[in-house]
Amino acid sequence: MGKSDKPETKVISLGRKSSEHHGVVNTPVYRASTILYPDYAAITGPEPQYTYGRRGTPTTRSFEDAISELEGAARTVTVPSGLNAIATAILSVCNAGDHLLVADNAYGPTRTFCDRTLARFGVSVDYYAPGDDIAPLLKPNTKAVFCESPGSLTFEMQDIPALAKAAHAHGASVLMDNTWATPLFFQPLKHGVDLSIQAATKYVGGHADVMLGYVSANESHAARLHETHGNMGLYASGDDCFLALRGLRTLPVRLARHQETGLTLARWLAARPEVARVLHPALESDPGHALWKRDFTGACGLFGVILKPAPEKAVAAMVDGLAHFGLGWSWGGFESLLIPAHIKRTARAFQAEGPVLRIHAGLEDAGDLIADLEQGLERLRSAS
Ligand SMILES: *Cc1c(COP(=O)(O)O)cnc(C)c1O
Repeated sequence: MGKSDKPETKVISLGRKSSEHHGVVNTPVYRASTILYPDYAAITGPEPQYTYGRRGTPTTRSFEDAISELEGAARTVTVPSGLNAIATAILSVCNAGDHLLVADNAYGPTRTFCDRTLARFGVSVDYYAPGDDIAPLLKPNTKAVFCESPGSLTFEMQDIPALAKAAHAHGASVLMDNTWATPLFFQPLKHGVDLSIQAATKYVGGHADVMLGYVSANESHAARLHETHGNMGLYASGDDCFLALRGLRTLPVRLARHQETGLTLARWLAARPEVARVLHPALESDPGHALWKRDFTGACGLFGVILKPAPEKAVAAMVDGLAHFGLGWSWGGFESLLIPAHIKRTARAFQAEGPVLRIHAGLEDAGDLIADLEQGLERLRSAS
């Protein structure tokens, strides 16, 4: 049987090693520290496939192999969280004295890592406004450009192939947080990115019950990434990799539904009088729509909405009575979520007409979600 390019077909068999496990469909959870060698010759000879728990087990390897195939990567390393994947990717390229250029709409904790921890190791960081030409911002010591597209909270798109071209012409590496699209809707390495980063906590896990991250590298960045991962003692548990692999099998069907419901809610909200703007690159009216359409094959269920000016107590009244939207961090699980967004920018201020909300469209019935939002907007109006 030939190999299929269709994601729905691919994710069914990726990383499976049934023949090594008595035919069991899913690679079981291996919990291991010590791995025994049969004899003196084995422990003093060339390294076998599995040497010590921290360096990987069949469960972690199954997950990493599946991801490398999806990402088109030479190597993937798995780490305990999405934020750790970001830190590991950056530490694998930047040295003391280097300069790192970071998108102004990167995930908040990415900025905190750069400003607080990287700074202590002598790596300087500047932020660029998403959409700006980065060429004038590249310094002689710029080692890497870190991007996220669409970016956190405000969902501006960036021209990743153009950005990668400018960075590479300067000898700088390109790192991308691709959590929004997942490797199903955008493959960073095929668009010029060197290190593709994913918070698998979100859609890959998909059930709000696992913390996990990974970094996938192209050929030229694989050795340094693997070395940094090993030297830092990083490891993700077999239990968590098992859950992520289980999530991966249904990722295409879940994402299709998240996409559809997200767009339904976004279009409905855009037509409401209480709403100033919806931030969703798959909407034709979005300034990033052309780039999204050119490079991405889909949209997830996460987007933003800017309300018309309203007092905080009215926003609280709207949010507090919601029946189907949970109030909490993270996203990508089966459930709908909504949070008030606090946007931090240093390169250029983000102009919002009023309060900003971030919505995650879950797998509930879209009509129920709209009815819930409709009542919420009524509470907003009566408390304004
Ligand atoms: C949540 C998130 C992360 C961090 O993932 P954790 O697993 O929570 O550490 C990174 N990037 C983006 C865009 C995120 O939304």
